[in-house]
Amino acid sequence: MVEEGVRGGVIETPGEVRSTVVYRSSVASRFASRSGSSVVGATLFLLVALFSLSACGESSREEPAQTSSGDAVSSGAKGSGSADSRVEARSDAGPATTGDERRITYQARTMGTWGGVTLSAADSLEALPHARRVHEAWSRVDSLMSNWTDDSEVARINREGGAEPIEIHPEVARVLETALAVGGQSGGAFDITVEPVVRAWGFLGGEKRVPDADEIETILERVGQQKIRFDPEARTLAFEWPGMRIDLGGVAKGYGVDEGARVLREIGVETALIDLSGNMAALGSPPGRESWVIGVRDPRDRHAYFARLDLRDACIATSGNYERFVSEGGKRYGHILDPRTGWPAQGLLSVTVLAPSATEADAWATALIVLGRARAVELVRDRDDLQVVLVEPRQDAGDHDPRDVVWVDGQLRERFSLNEGLESVFDVRFF
Ligand code: AMP
Ligand code: MG
Repeated sequence: MVEEGVRGGVIETPGEVRSTVVYRSSVASRFASRSGSSVVGATLFLLVALFSLSACGESSREEPAQTSSGDAVSSGAKGSGSADSRVEARSDAGPATTGDERRITYQARTMGTWGGVTLSAADSLEALPHARRVHEAWSRVDSLMSNWTDDSEVARINREGGAEPIEIHPEVARVLETALAVGGQSGGAFDITVEPVVRAWGFLGGEKRVPDADEIETILERVGQQKIRFDPEARTLAFEWPGMRIDLGGVAKGYGVDEGARVLREIGVETALIDLSGNMAALGSPPGRESWVIGVRDPRDRHAYFARLDLRDACIATSGNYERFVSEGGKRYGHILDPRTGWPAQGLLSVTVLAPSATEADAWATALIVLGRARAVELVRDRDDLQVVLVEPRQDAGDHDPRDVVWVDGQLRERFSLNEGLESVFDVRFF
């Protein structure tokens, strides 16, 4: 039997919800349709939740925002993207009645998932244009990098790419440059040319299935970033093997977050939390607070989140193979594949990465899942620009302790805290 599971990986816990405003606008959807059909017309709902700022509460701990890994597609989530900025307000709550700044989260369906922008404003309509700018940036990234439609730039590259170099869009070229760099530094654990294998497993539409070893072996001939020729100056790309294709699914949401942050900074917004399915950028900190509080999702789903990270001006991403998978013969096969073998990565339950950009955080989170705990720790130890939280299943911890092991980068010592009462479930080790 074949089934699929989809769940999220970093969240914000924004505190007490005061009221919710639902805006509705019609959109032409383009990005990641999990239904497998190409372009899906959809209706975008901007759910605007007004959150109170607990300005008083001396010891009241704030509920964090959670990291979820890339494909946190909730059920029924199909298509997304909004280029249409006409918003009809169906407002149940109306704008805030006091002049106090409060945090407001504007959510939209995009890139096959939910994206949220948390801003600080006295009322929801005041900040809406800012959030809409971010949503529009996501639509643009979606239309360029979707691997679920026929009309994205990536789809065109996959169609037209071959031995002759073709010109590619400057933004795709920029993401490609980062993706290839992470690919090289991770020794091929991250590789955007993994697309034909991802497709064979059914993770890019169609029925999910477990391919046989011979099929994988044959497909691997057209996988490997050393077989593409990319010229960053000329912005051209060529495939050295027929049938090669690229998949930016492991890095595009991170880029969407970076673009959202850039757009907000450009219009002078200094305080915001951008969240695209667990790929996050924390700009500044919420008014009156030192930092944003981010919750790291429990990969076994027993708790919404098991640990908190206090962050300001930081980019973070989580990947987990629990997100999307196919089950056969009682075995689960996750959607993050080792491009060198064509088989799903095994070992770590989840990887959370802080990096200088959300694009890099996204790519590295996927890469480190493939590398596994020992190599991930080794690699990160030597780098000041990456900080990680790894969750390793208990059976791999090498002893009889029933707890999962949480490997936390020593650089995060001051910012990481395990939720109270979870010492019996998680064994936290700093490295
Ligand atoms: P993420 O959720 O960011 O970890 O990305 C997972 C997605 O990236 C998958 O659904 C695939 O589309 C793609 N992918 C899977 N394995 C790899 C890999 N080893 N390198 C690059 N992309 C991958
Ligand atoms: Mg990723």
